[in-house]
Amino acid sequence: MANNEELFKKIIAHAKEYGFVFPSSEIYDGLGAVYDYGQYGVELKNNIKNYWWKAMVQYHENIVGLDAAIFMHPTVWKASGHVDAFSDPMIDNKDSKKRYRADVLVEEYMSKIEQKIEKEAEKAAARFGESFDREKFMTTHPRVLEYREKRDAIAKRLYSAMDRNDLADMKKLIEDLEIACPVSGSKNWTEVRQFNLMFSTRLGSVSDETNEIYLRPETAQGIFVNFLNVQKTGRMKIPFGIAQIGKAFRNEIVARQFLFRMREFEQMEMQFFVRPGEEMQWYEYWKQERMKWHLGMGIPASKYRFHNHEKLAHYANAAADIEFDFPIGFKEIEGIHSRTDFDLASHEKYSGKKMQYFDTERNEGYVPYVIETSIGLDRTFLAVLSQAYKEEVLEDGSERAVLALPPFLAPIKVAVLPLIKKDGLPEKAREIMDGLKEEFMCFYEEKDTIGRRYRRQDAIGTPYCITIDHQTLQDDTVTIRERDTMHQDRIPVEKVDEIIRKRLLLK
Ligand code: ATP
Repeated sequence: MANNEELFKKIIAHAKEYGFVFPSSEIYDGLGAVYDYGQYGVELKNNIKNYWWKAMVQYHENIVGLDAAIFMHPTVWKASGHVDAFSDPMIDNKDSKKRYRADVLVEEYMSKIEQKIEKEAEKAAARFGESFDREKFMTTHPRVLEYREKRDAIAKRLYSAMDRNDLADMKKLIEDLEIACPVSGSKNWTEVRQFNLMFSTRLGSVSDETNEIYLRPETAQGIFVNFLNVQKTGRMKIPFGIAQIGKAFRNEIVARQFLFRMREFEQMEMQFFVRPGEEMQWYEYWKQERMKWHLGMGIPASKYRFHNHEKLAHYANAAADIEFDFPIGFKEIEGIHSRTDFDLASHEKYSGKKMQYFDTERNEGYVPYVIETSIGLDRTFLAVLSQAYKEEVLEDGSERAVLALPPFLAPIKVAVLPLIKKDGLPEKAREIMDGLKEEFMCFYEEKDTIGRRYRRQDAIGTPYCITIDHQTLQDDTVTIRERDTMHQDRIPVEKVDEIIRKRLLLK
């Protein structure tokens, strides 16, 4: 664990040093859990967005896009349940003055028990070798069963307390489990209180309660309130989806994990409208589709896993997370939720407007059911960045930090580097760059030794460097250097774009 924390710190430092992510308002010492994306960060982020948009909108004839405003009528958030229920239980440690989410403290305790179960299984696997039957071991070994029973009892009590909004019992549970504050080590806790995560502000110049509005805590509601606008104007037939990328805001209680938990972040959400009764097959379909999307970035499958929810949100009848193995452990990166007709039906009730779809095949009207796929853009950025970051010791003993990004996501696709700053090489390099920059994001640099320039491109993940030297002037060939292998080839200038294009198609 300590090692991973170290790695996490290195990734954060690298992201800052190379212009990917800066703390917000850094000259004023930053603003808690708010970050700015720098010159390379914005490129990487845009490339991830494009990959998502293409996969969802361009490749699906029955999914269209939307860009709804961040501000919405305040009743939207009454109807969605956010005014009454979008809160987290928080608890403070009186000694360290640190604030925690009460449910997360208990869940972390539960995952420690799970780790113990895993250790038992690993030990047994090592002992029994080939003949090890994991399934059998997990369902019969007395110590594993004991751990499981304990974990399940805790889960049951926690989720029942949350459902009943029994904050006193949550506190009692933390005491019963003797959970201590990781900072002070003490068990001196305050009461558990509910804290609504929505930011509010006022619309217009008159300051009274009636014009209090919220910064949206999710993009989904913009899709629901436009459901009929899009369906009618686009003549969409069920099943169909509406996709949206946009900012969301949550006043998170615990926000100390870099891009993982921010107060201002971006979501990429898609709501898929289906016939009531067919939602489970679509739920399974989207679970698989979304996992494929993640794997399409070339990240190994072992870095992902599904986590099916035990405690369902008030609107859901099934829900799963896709979790990614971040340097801070396996954590949620995307949620796939079967939201029933909760949102549309609720908007129908609050607005008095019909939210029905008329199904011509069935000759009947109904409020559609919804499968939602909701992924955090910033968490995906963090996943891609942490997966790509590598420190290597080269044959000559020197070290390099490299971002082994899939080329189609790399901020810069090709760096154009004249070997020296004279003899007509910069002019030739500019000419080559002009031929490439319409299609690819390019970077031009003539200062510094070529070795240092290569290192800087490695550090931002540029898959190709093109070097222009004296021979280029004679025979129109350049050196192309590949980031991961550092292999160099001499190729004709006219081949450069073809080679790069081919590589970029590979994910
Ligand atoms: P968590 O349990 O981690 O708070 P959540 O279940 O509340 O997340 P959802 O409401 O399902 O999250 O939001 C969908 C996605 O939006 C999440 O999978 C995550 O990738 C992203 N997301 C949610 N909250 C944040 C945040 N504070 N910072 C960055 N991304 C976030």
